[in-house]
Amino acid sequence: MRVRVLGSAAGGGFPQWNCACPQCEGVRSGKLRARARTQTQAAVSLDGARWFLLNASPDLRQQILSSADFVPPGGSRNTPISSVVLTSADVDAVMGLLHLREFQPLHIFSTIAVRRILTEENSLFRVLARSSPPVKWETLPLDRLMPLIPASPADKKSGLFCKAVSLNGSFPDYVSESLRHTLAPEEAVIGLSFASKEKKFFYAPNLPGIGDHWLRLVEESDLAILDGTFWKDDELHSIQKGSKSARQMGHLPLWGDRGLLRQPFRPSKTRRVLIHINNTNPILNDESPESRIVRDACWEIAYDGMELAV
Ligand SMILES: [Zn+2]
Repeated sequence: MRVRVLGSAAGGGFPQWNCACPQCEGVRSGKLRARARTQTQAAVSLDGARWFLLNASPDLRQQILSSADFVPPGGSRNTPISSVVLTSADVDAVMGLLHLREFQPLHIFSTIAVRRILTEENSLFRVLARSSPPVKWETLPLDRLMPLIPASPADKKSGLFCKAVSLNGSFPDYVSESLRHTLAPEEAVIGLSFASKEKKFFYAPNLPGIGDHWLRLVEESDLAILDGTFWKDDELHSIQKGSKSARQMGHLPLWGDRGLLRQPFRPSKTRRVLIHINNTNPILNDESPESRIVRDACWEIAYDGMELAV
């Protein structure tokens, strides 16, 4: 399995266009030892020829253009990208679908709840149906391994399997009350456990950290890419008074009581990588003590262009 990180920052990117916090200022001026980052986007492939996008970030167009893997094969209007797998209906996870609207047949895998939010309540996404054949929505059932079938060539199996696991998160604020009441809450935010032969990869860029079932999924995987949005629970308070805490926003912080770095992982061979890093998180500064703590605890910090092999 090949996994490419195309974007590694949380919503807004790094630097964020309207932010003058010390880190955004530092990366703008070049005084901070840190890489600029686009909004979180990853892709997975078994053969390097057909790719599954993991969510669709607002920066998707730029991210596709920046990678040689996604150049259309010669002589035709086509793409190595044939499917998208969604973990939630968050704006940062779905906005990029609109970049894929150029009459390209695609498969979009999601829970029923996420599909209903996008197709019943947000008519803008109906532009995806203009392709021929139209975009096909495929239901990801919870807790069941299912084969991922690429849109093209339609008859070819990818050899990649995926199990969706509820992470007990919440629906985005923009979902209306009336629709929300008809949706299964466990379908709001999922983690994706990919399998091919005996190799496993777990992807959870939004990890509320409720319950502990996801710990086992990390331990049994060869690679886990997890939510590294915030260093501490009250991180946004210092930038903007009255901001929600990390946990209230559905992100388990890295540090502090029961933070991700303090979770009781059993020893395993898992390669552990942090993604979806907010511009306020000090681990973006390569010279910060927090970044050192993360590396000393055997976690890696994702960056745009990172390539991982499983
Ligand atoms: Zn900032």
